[in-house]
Amino acid sequence: MKESILSLTYDELKTELVNLGQPKYRAEQIYYELHNGKQLNEISNIPQTLKQTLLETYQDNTIEIIKVQKSTDGTQKFLYKLADDNLIEGVLMQYKFGYTLCVSSQVGCRMGCKFCASGLDGLVRSLQAGEIMGQVIVANKYLAGTVKERKVTNIVLMGSGEPLDNYNNVLKFLNLATNKYGLYYAERNISLSTCGLVSNIIKLADSGYKINICLSLHASNNEVRKNIMNVAKGYEISEVINACKYYFEKTGRRILFEYILIDNVNSSKQNALELAKLIKGLNCIVNLINLNEVKENNFKRCSPDTQKTFAETLKEKGINVTTRRSLGNDIDGACGQLRRRFIKEQN
Ligand code: SAH
Repeated sequence: MKESILSLTYDELKTELVNLGQPKYRAEQIYYELHNGKQLNEISNIPQTLKQTLLETYQDNTIEIIKVQKSTDGTQKFLYKLADDNLIEGVLMQYKFGYTLCVSSQVGCRMGCKFCASGLDGLVRSLQAGEIMGQVIVANKYLAGTVKERKVTNIVLMGSGEPLDNYNNVLKFLNLATNKYGLYYAERNISLSTCGLVSNIIKLADSGYKINICLSLHASNNEVRKNIMNVAKGYEISEVINACKYYFEKTGRRILFEYILIDNVNSSKQNALELAKLIKGLNCIVNLINLNEVKENNFKRCSPDTQKTFAETLKEKGINVTTRRSLGNDIDGACGQLRRRFIKEQN
């Protein structure tokens, strides 16, 4: 499969074009129009021969939204088709300030978290940087946004896949998304959710990008974490917390811990006390998430009382707590559910 034209950073595109004997402004022009949602072939004021030459090496942004599900709460879920016919999902959430788009970093996932539908069939492949950027561009276009008038205001790398398992492409995506000739996102408007690949959290902290990190913690001790997340077999929970401390020290970005409350697994008062102790002193916030039940496993949601006790216990210990507004419950909101159902219906 060819590399997406969108994978070229602005500097790479400029070098490529100058090597092809093109004037320097050409890079600006092409980068801008690609981020506006045009395909290379649709940009009218560049030479036809140049388009042909570029398309011998690169593929156009052919990511396509093939299905949209709208929730009663305003959330929309996309099913995107990639150039090689693989499918990925995206979720668009509407807020007062604009739209947040949740993008995928891989087709499938190899992390194998027990509660998650994305990883049930393992990893198919990692996405190219341009395919991650492509999702943002296509969603922005779908909302009738442009480079000048962006509709998608925030990006979260929280769709299917483990972004830090596709580190180089994700880092390149950050370059693409923050370039001033394109959609030009501020680093503070980009978040990345990880199950906790410690060595790459450290690398990201040292990368110079100051994006927000969301850490899928989901447990208050090693034992529980190992039971529900394979990644915990490679990294102790204390190592994960230390990596978060390091990330905060380097970037000044407050850490957001994601914690799915699962009945009889991680949601007792004792767990809340243990969690408070574990993260004490760290500049962080705990985001409690209601489990999205998936039919492929037996995990169950907690009762509202259990949720309340858990949240109150953390608060009493001085921890900042928010409860995630559960969006899109009626549209297969949980990771990987829409893609799985669609693939099953096709077969
Ligand atoms: N691999 C990354 C990002 C993708 S998952 C990560 O692990 O963070 C995005 C978030 O959805 C994670 O916090 C993940 O734990 C959570 N999630 C997965 N399955 C879920 C489910 N069934 N119900 C609620 N949240 C779920």
